[in-house]
Amino acid sequence: MQENNSIQDYNSMQEDNSMQEDNSMQEDNSMQENNSMQDDNSIQDENFTQWEEFTRRVNSCRKCGLCENRRNVVIGRGCKTPEVLFIGEGPGENEDLQGLPFVGQAGKLLDYALEGLMFEEDSYYIANIVKCRPPGNRIPTDEEAEQCLPFLRQQFRLLKPRVIVCLGSTAVRYIIGKEERITRIRGNWIEKKGWRIMPTFHPAALLRDEAKKEQMWQDLYKVRQKLEEFETN
Ligand code: SF4
Repeated sequence: MQENNSIQDYNSMQEDNSMQEDNSMQEDNSMQENNSMQDDNSIQDENFTQWEEFTRRVNSCRKCGLCENRRNVVIGRGCKTPEVLFIGEGPGENEDLQGLPFVGQAGKLLDYALEGLMFEEDSYYIANIVKCRPPGNRIPTDEEAEQCLPFLRQQFRLLKPRVIVCLGSTAVRYIIGKEERITRIRGNWIEKKGWRIMPTFHPAALLRDEAKKEQMWQDLYKVRQKLEEFETN
């Protein structure tokens, strides 16, 4: 695994010209910028065109072997101008069938938590590290993740979230750093290149271990509090 497959290193990636734009976004991802962008119709139009082009490229992608067995490419779901970007691992069977992330049992649990904590539906977007289903729901390989991460970076640029939530160890590995462990860092805010990142458990882990549920709720409550801070500042 090369070191450039985590977010903090993506400034240095040379093959993707969009990374240069990402740098400026990271330096300027203030609320004022978000508001002014939303107020500017021409930029909204441009954003819509960029999403169309992005969707077209991802849907036709065959950069890694996961394209072989997919039924759908799973790009994401939620608000296109979110405060929070949730990042999971990869599509499971239901997600592959429906072309949407987090629509199976784990997704229902996540939706239940977000609803319970009163996250507005227009405040978040949900995506994954890889956009095609790994066979048997296995963990994506480093190579697969590395091939797919440029798409997620493009999503950052388009979505401009103020907070990122890593759901589970795979998201932590590729967003925060491969040396980090979810059990050690969950529930603590991490700042990387201007991003505020909250690592927490993947909801699928809660299905296997009920004891993690309360911890995940606590972590998501911190995210909810952060959004309230934004509103009052
Ligand atoms: S997982 Fe990502 S890189 Fe691999 S084929 Fe699907 S969209 Fe392309």
